[in-house]
Amino acid sequence: MFSGRRERGQYSLKTFGMLLFGPVIVLTVLCGLAMVWTSRSIDAQTEVLTRDTVQKILFEQRNAINMDNLRHSIYAFAESHNPKHAREAYINAWALLSESLLDKREDVKPAVIRLQEQILAVRPLRRRVDADVINVYERWHGLFSRSRTLTYLADADETGLEQLEVDRLTLFAEPGEKLLKPLAALRHIAEEACSRPLSPELKAKTDAVCERVGREHAELAEAVKALDASKKAFGAKVAEMKETLAGLNRALVQIENSGLLEEVKAVTDITDRYKTLNFLPLLTVLLMIGALAAAGRLVIYPIRRTVSDVRRFHQNGEIPMKGRPGIIRELSDLSDWMMIFCLLSRAEKEKSAAMEMRFSELQASSMLDPLTGAENRRAFEKFAEEGGGLPPGTGFLMLDLDRFKDINDTRGHQFGDRILEAAGRVLRETLKGRGRVFRYGGEEFCVLLPGSGAEDVVMTAEQLMSAVRRISRENAESSRTYEAADPLTLSIGMTCVQEADGVLSVQEAVRRSDAALYQAKANGRNRAVYYLPGQKEKTR
Ligand code: GH3
Ligand code: MG
Ligand code: MG
Repeated sequence: MFSGRRERGQYSLKTFGMLLFGPVIVLTVLCGLAMVWTSRSIDAQTEVLTRDTVQKILFEQRNAINMDNLRHSIYAFAESHNPKHAREAYINAWALLSESLLDKREDVKPAVIRLQEQILAVRPLRRRVDADVINVYERWHGLFSRSRTLTYLADADETGLEQLEVDRLTLFAEPGEKLLKPLAALRHIAEEACSRPLSPELKAKTDAVCERVGREHAELAEAVKALDASKKAFGAKVAEMKETLAGLNRALVQIENSGLLEEVKAVTDITDRYKTLNFLPLLTVLLMIGALAAAGRLVIYPIRRTVSDVRRFHQNGEIPMKGRPGIIRELSDLSDWMMIFCLLSRAEKEKSAAMEMRFSELQASSMLDPLTGAENRRAFEKFAEEGGGLPPGTGFLMLDLDRFKDINDTRGHQFGDRILEAAGRVLRETLKGRGRVFRYGGEEFCVLLPGSGAEDVVMTAEQLMSAVRRISRENAESSRTYEAADPLTLSIGMTCVQEADGVLSVQEAVRRSDAALYQAKANGRNRAVYYLPGQKEKTR
């Protein structure tokens, strides 16, 4: 105990603190570093994402617009009936493909090149279709004019022709096979005109026209077939081109998405890593709580217990029990020291109380006269100095044994002492705590009677004289009931402080009672005289 050496399972406060809070501090620092690192990583990645994404979005927006224009131009080129418009659309599509080729990624380049090749290949087909359309249109126009001439010459019905004239524009909006039906109707009109009975002159004219119309019909039918074929070839190529365009569009959309997704995934990955770091602050907080709880249990609790032990000792003098040795050496030592301190303190207290008692005994005995048992002159002087005077209603008596010198002279000093001893005892017993008896000096005593009037003083003086007379001058023994045959006598001078006196000084009381005592002696001794002003002062 108190060696300062480490006992088994005990740690110094410093070691304990380091063991308990060290990991918490390390973890807190790690946690802080991890937070800073993660936050910086996220910042950096977000910056990259923001910058790249803005660029990518702009790029993709441009691409999307280009793609949209391209699609629009290709469809216009493929579907416009107006060759001029188709040509403009073609030029536009080609320009878009050529310009945006550089912007495209490597993985869509083959599709763009294929589209370029296809658009190059489809161009002559479109031209062919346009030429075939013009061809059909012109032939139809010629045939129609001649059919009209024919109906004039033959004076045939023109209603069918007028009907066909109305439908012409509609028909040419979509030339091709659909023309075969009106063509058949036109042929029927011509055949009917040609079969009409006419004058020979007219017949010669109409026959030439009929023969030409027949030839032109065959040629127009051929031209329509050719147009259908060229349209089919053009349509097939256009379908291929549209297919390529759709594929290119899909690829671009995928690239757009995957490009953005990569960036977002990078941030998500970091955020996920950060999430796993979230347990660090939690762990730190839990460890902190654990460390505080352990510190409370292992440090604060022993300190509080020691303090309450000290308080109990202070209040009830209860010595603390020796507890189990704590895990912390200093606190364990403190508790042990406290117990020792309490034990020592109690021993000290007991010793001090004994000394105090002894001291007061000694003090009391130092104020007593050993021979008579009365309070001594020192006690009287102390009372005179510190008592603050005698209030009204206090009796004061001076007593002097009569002819005491004779006793000494005749029976010896030791016998005289026995007489003095008996006198002191009798005086004390007679007063029985009603007043205090002092040995004033030699065979003289004084008595203090608090709370007494003049009558009480006189009566007490009588009692004292009577009691002393029961002491024998012969053998110094005293009877309890009878006066001795050769009684010891004493003379008393007495006074009592009156209201008019106020608080009377002890010296004045001594002076007054002494004067009365002188009077008692002068009057023949063995008597008590009450002080009257003007009494002759003692000259003994
Ligand atoms: P009186 O009646 O006038 O008082 O006569 P007295 O003899 O008593 O008075 P005095 O003063 O002449 O004598 C007192 C004597 O008391 C003198 C002294 O030797 C004696 N005495 C004083 N103290 C002691 C004491 O302690 N022991 C003894 N044995 N005698 C004492
Ligand atoms: Mg005397
Ligand atoms: Mg005397």
